[in-house]
Amino acid sequence: MTWGRPPPRVKQYLGSSPGVPALPFPRAALVERELKPIPKRQYLRSPTYRRWVASLPCAHCKRAGPTQAAHSDTAADGKGLQIKATDAALWPGCADAPGRRGCHTIIGSTGTFKREHAQTLAAGYIAETQALAKATGNWPKGWP
Ligand SMILES: [Zn+2]
Repeated sequence: MTWGRPPPRVKQYLGSSPGVPALPFPRAALVERELKPIPKRQYLRSPTYRRWVASLPCAHCKRAGPTQAAHSDTAADGKGLQIKATDAALWPGCADAPGRRGCHTIIGSTGTFKREHAQTLAAGYIAETQALAKATGNWPKGWP
């Protein structure tokens, strides 16, 4: 068996060939829409603020420390694939302990609560945490 030369490649675009449907709008509009840059989000990060949040009692069960600084799970706060939400949206959630699931895990990842309910709970705890931080002078300088 011998391999012949492959047929020459013919570039085909939507609307450029008889069998391909035409675009309902000019091709330039598609390029402009597809290539519009998405502004990069500015992530506020503060290890000092995270440590302060983790020093608080659990916002959900009120258990005293150790707690963890739990990040928001919503895209509105910047949560994305492989990236944590802004540090401005933190709430103190108690950690897992032997024989006991912590609120950070329960609300954050186990699916114990429906996603919407967990996000509503977290949003309330985040607002409380932010208000406490601002009232006690623990809100990082320069943060909105
Ligand atoms: Zn807890």
